[in-house]
Amino acid sequence: ATPTALMVGTGRSAKLGILIKNGEILEAVNSIKTVVFDKTGTITAGKPKVTDIIGDQQQVLEVAVNLEATSEHPLAAAILTKAQEVGIAVQGAQNFTALEGKGIQAQISNKQAFIGNQKLLADYQLDEATAAKMLELQNEAKTVVLVGFDGQIIGLIAVQDTPKKSSAAAITALKERGLRTVMLTGDNEHVAQAIADQVGIDEVLADVLPGDKAAKIKKLQQQAPIAFVGDGINDAPALTTANVGIAMGSGTDIAIESGGIVLVKNDLQDVVLALELSQKTFNRIK
Ligand code: ADP
Ligand code: MG
Repeated sequence: ATPTALMVGTGRSAKLGILIKNGEILEAVNSIKTVVFDKTGTITAGKPKVTDIIGDQQQVLEVAVNLEATSEHPLAAAILTKAQEVGIAVQGAQNFTALEGKGIQAQISNKQAFIGNQKLLADYQLDEATAAKMLELQNEAKTVVLVGFDGQIIGLIAVQDTPKKSSAAAITALKERGLRTVMLTGDNEHVAQAIADQVGIDEVLADVLPGDKAAKIKKLQQQAPIAFVGDGINDAPALTTANVGIAMGSGTDIAIESGGIVLVKNDLQDVVLALELSQKTFNRIK
């Protein structure tokens, strides 16, 4: 009877847009105690917009857009859109280095330029007023990137990505079921905490480099079985390490391949639904 019951469970879920790759995954879903979420594109819509530019807008955007022109990071898309609106064209840069979880460095007009977070700052001085402004923006749930050119910080760009409509309700439903909820992100802790507060997530693990995400999952797993929900290239190792990997249908191919469950509608309420379905299926088998 087991295979039939599982087929029914997975067949029904498929109609709801919850693709479950095999029966063992349903069983694993039934055992999880903690749900860990990626931030960008999972809890949030993944469509960030530039909200603030500190410094000379023209100059800051000029450097930024030339650095981000070839990047596939969601932040890059926001900056390119803004530059287009303001009418700044991409001139080009040389010797690009993408620094995972940090930002981008390159040369513009033979001068060193960068865009990214504080982890890139070693060679630059951040004055007190700029640091204070940065913190203020981060506490408003805005991701802030620093723009550097020729040995100086020339400005800040704040980018906002808002939670999906259903994220808060989904987190509440998971907590009501007694599950622990955690956010795992490469973004700054102030930004991560502000978003976590908006949706009711219990715990935040921020400033985690892409290569360290799977290790964080392993650590949490020592306490109880984990489901990890994510969408990005960076999330693939965490998706395969977790007891249950749940990928967003809008995610990168590698994330979708790595997930045992794929949420076609990109809706976190479907995490709750997947839990309910697995419980019903198992009650039927028993
Ligand atoms: P996430 O966990 O949201 O996927 P990432 O690990 O991709 O985060 O990036 C973490 C941080 O690194 C970003 O919030 C940003 O500060 C910086 N960063 C990464 N890539 C870029 C980029 N292309 N341009 C500017 N900053 C970047
Ligand atoms: Mg993401």
